[in-house]
This record gives sequence, C-alpha cells and structure tokens, in this order.
Amino acid sequence: MGRAFVYVILGGGVSAGYAALDFVRRGVSHGELCIISDESVAPYERPALSKGYLLPEGAARLPSFHTCVGANEERLTPKWYKEHGVELVLGTGVKSADVKRKTLLTTTGETISYKFLIIATGARALKLEEFGVNGSDAENVCYLRDISDANRLVDAIQSSPGGNAVVIGGGYIGMECAASLVINKINVTMVFPEAHCMARLLTPKIANYYEEYYKLRGVKFIKGTVLSSFDFDSNGKVTDVTLRDGTKLSVDMVVVGIGIRPNTGLFEGQLTLEKGGIKVNGMFQSSNSSVYAIGDVAAFPVKAFGEKRRLEHVDSARKSAKHAVSSIMEPDKTGEFDYIPFFYSRVFTLSWQFYGDNAGEVVYYGDLSASGDTFGAYWVNKGHVVGAFLEGGTKEEYEAIAKTTKLRPAIEDLAELERQGLGFAVAVSQKPVASPPPIEVSASASGLLLQKPLYAWHATAGVVLAASIAAFAYFYGKRRRRW
Ligand SMILES: Cc1cc2nc3c(=O)[nH]c(=O)nc-3n(C[C@H](O)[C@H](O)[C@H](O)COP(=O)(O)OP(=O)(O)OC[C@H]3O[C@@H](n4cnc5c(N)ncnc54)[C@H](O)[C@@H]3O)c2cc1C
Repeated sequence: MGRAFVYVILGGGVSAGYAALDFVRRGVSHGELCIISDESVAPYERPALSKGYLLPEGAARLPSFHTCVGANEERLTPKWYKEHGVELVLGTGVKSADVKRKTLLTTTGETISYKFLIIATGARALKLEEFGVNGSDAENVCYLRDISDANRLVDAIQSSPGGNAVVIGGGYIGMECAASLVINKINVTMVFPEAHCMARLLTPKIANYYEEYYKLRGVKFIKGTVLSSFDFDSNGKVTDVTLRDGTKLSVDMVVVGIGIRPNTGLFEGQLTLEKGGIKVNGMFQSSNSSVYAIGDVAAFPVKAFGEKRRLEHVDSARKSAKHAVSSIMEPDKTGEFDYIPFFYSRVFTLSWQFYGDNAGEVVYYGDLSASGDTFGAYWVNKGHVVGAFLEGGTKEEYEAIAKTTKLRPAIEDLAELERQGLGFAVAVSQKPVASPPPIEVSASASGLLLQKPLYAWHATAGVVLAASIAAFAYFYGKRRRRW
C-alpha cells in the first residue's frame, strides 16, 4: 500500500501549519501536499497549552487556536485542509524513513513517497526516567508537550482543588505551569538545580524579579537540588516527593518540565546532525538536497551570530517554515534566512520579549523591584548591542528593541546606554539607518574573518545616539499599555 506526494511535511505541529499555509498561498495543486502527524488533531499553536488552555475559566480549546492564529493569520481548521486539497494524515506516526528512496513508512504500514520532504518533528519532553527517577506513568505526574499532556494536566488540576503541587524544573514550562497552577488556586513549590529560574536565558537580576513576583503569589522555591524519588499510594498515585537534599514534600500533583530532545531519530545515520538537531543551510536544506528541516529540530545558521543554532521557540518555527517553503518553491528568488532569535513569555499579568543573543555585558534600565512593571536590559558584546529584553512594553516598544537588536548599534559608553534605557531603542528604531555592521566570525566557526564595522555605520550610530537623548523623556513620560 502506498501513496505519492510532491511535498510531504513530517510532523503536524506549529511549523507544519505555517508551512502548509505558505504552500497553499504559493499555489500548490490539490493532492500535491501531505502532512503526517502522530497527533490526532490538526496543527495548533503549542504555546497556548501552558497559557490559555490551563485557565480555570474561559479556557482556550480547539478549534480556537489552530495555526496560524498566533501570527494573526488564517486559522487552519481540518475543513481548511480539505478545501485546499491538503492531505492530513493524523494519528499516524512515521516509524522509518529512507532518504535515498524518498519514502516514509507509517505505523499503519503505508509507504508514503515524496519529491520534497520537510522534517517538522519538533521535540519530545525529557522523562524523569532518563535521570534515574521512576514514576512518569503515575496519573498525577504531568508533562506538557502536546494536547494529550495538556488534557492530563487539566484533569490533575481539577482533581487537586486547593492542593499542593511540586513543579520540577525552572525553565519555560516550569515557570508557565507554576503560574497557571497558582491561578487555579493550587499551592506550588518549584524545585530546580540552578541558582535561579530560566538560567539559560535570564540573568540572576532579571530572574530575581520574576521569582519575587511569584513569591508574592505564594510560590515557594527550592533551588540547587533535584528530585530524588517519589512515594506512591496503593493506587499508584504519587503522595510524596523526596529531593536530593533530603527535603520531603507531600503532593497532590507533580509537573515535570526538565527540557526537551529534538526528534531526529528517524534520520540518524542518514542526514548530518549538529547541535542535537538536523543540520541545514540558510535555505533549510539538509545534507540531502530533497530534504528540509524546520522548527525545533533544525540547526540553522544564524547570520547575526556567525554560527548554527537550534532554537526551541515558536517564532523561529513559524519563520523557518515560511522560508523553507519559499526555498523549495522559488529557490532562485529565495536568499539565505536572516533571522534574529525572538522569545517571549506571558505569565500572570506579566509579559516579556527577548531578541538576539544574551552574550556580553548586561546593561539594565527601569524598575527591577517586584513592584515595578516595566524594565529591560541590553546585552552589549564587542561594542555592539546584540540582545535586548523588555518586560511590560507596548507593541511599539517591543518593535523598537527588535529593530535595535537587528541593527546592532555601536555602544561606546555603557553608563550612557543605561541612562537612556528604553529611550535608546525607541530612538534607534525611529531613525533610518544603513545596514548593520558585518559580524566578526571566529576562524574556528567558519574559517572566515569578516571585516570590522564600517566607519559609515559608526557615524550613523552616533547620530542615533544623539537622537536618542531626545527620546529619553519618552520612556519616563509614557503610560504603560499591554497588548
Ligand atoms: C507548553 C508549551 C508552551 C510553549 N510556549 C512558548 C512560548 O510562550 N514562546 C515560545 O517562543 N515558544 C513556546 N513554546 C515552544 C514552541 O511551541 C515550539 O518551539 C514549537 O512548537 C516548535 O514547532 P515545531 O513545528 O518544530 O514542533 P512541534 O510544534 O512540537 O511539532 C512537532 C510535530 O511532529 C510530530 N511528530 C514527531 N515525530 C513524529 C513521527 N515520527 N511521526 C509523526 N509525527 C511526528 C509531533 O507529534 C508534533 O505534532 C512552547 C512549547 C510548549 C510545549
């Protein structure tokens, strides 16, 4: 048994949905495109699972958050796929792939062949067992990667009114789930080995702001230790959590967010891997020219950093999908992907965005006390702004830090940057400027050493700096808006 398609997307998550929309917009014919997913529902905006999906009232449910509503685009319901002749093969895993023969073998025993394959398999949640702790199968131990995990988490929340939860892990999932549990009136203790939450992205100072904010809402933090074991009742439910430091906590439920691993298994030994993902070029093409990889599973060149990165964020999933479709359908008109990493999170009434890279010296501005509501930071590396973070900004202000990070303005005086704060980014974003300076790429990374920043750029940056003084008052005078 078998079917053949021109384009096959393997995986039915965020990037698959955005790729499908672009294929259709670019005019694929009925019957040319197929999506195969082991999930039972059409692609949806995964970030909703740790936010709107967990609300005690008015919770988000499908079909409201099918892709591509997260980017204010069309909402692709199963009907949309049908109307556009896109074959949606749901609830079906792919168990093996043969990139030489251009075929995929599904769990139903069907062989699906393709001319072009897009790998959009994302990642899976790491399990406790991989760290030597048993108990993932207990009904009150929850992970959060897909909609079936989210349903299980909702059940656990509803079975634990006023109860106690331990959240293992202080990253994205841990922080967002902890906030949702508090909103559901569950007492939360967070446990993680690092010195502060979101250690890969946030500085201790920024992390402290969020931890204090959480503490004011009753969340307890136990840091610098890890889970050691569970105690179970006669029904197999976890009753107590023991930590390596000897602490024992009684629980009604446990949420585990200890990281993810990209789903590359089908292609190991067939495609080149890098940074734990599938290595692709700036067109998202893998080491096999008929095979592309996008989203969490792809390690792609980030021009601004002069190296390949694998990102685990929704914006890169969406944009990599669009770029890969363009590369496949209009290769001559598609350039190399030029992307500035962008992450965001929303918890309680907080909302932050981060652009670029968190490398170099950090310059803070605004009120970082737990009662403050707008603050931010710039990362300055080798004399240029390479990253920017903002909590509580307006749409225009987030756009300003995004543009500033892309332009990489030169900074000679960190104290002056601190004094100008957000006003600096606002001013930079309002000025027409020349191209950003070329990036110095280390010889080891690429074998190349690009030229130093141009004088013209420094001159422009100087003008920007002067203009930004005028924008200074803007930051302090503005009224806060949320979006
Ligand atoms: C709860 C949660 C909240 C998040 N919140 C944010 C946020 O606030 N901000 C942010 O920037 N990012 C967030 N993210 C990250 C973001 O959702 C991911 O970066 C994004 O989903 C990646 O898209 P993707 O298409 O690469 O992978 P996914 O969306 O994970 O899709 C992968 C798909 O492939 C399928 N699949 C895998 N292997 C097979 C196989 N062998 N056969 C068939 N199907 C297969 C999977 O079932 C899934 O449908 C969040 C993630 C989660 C889990």
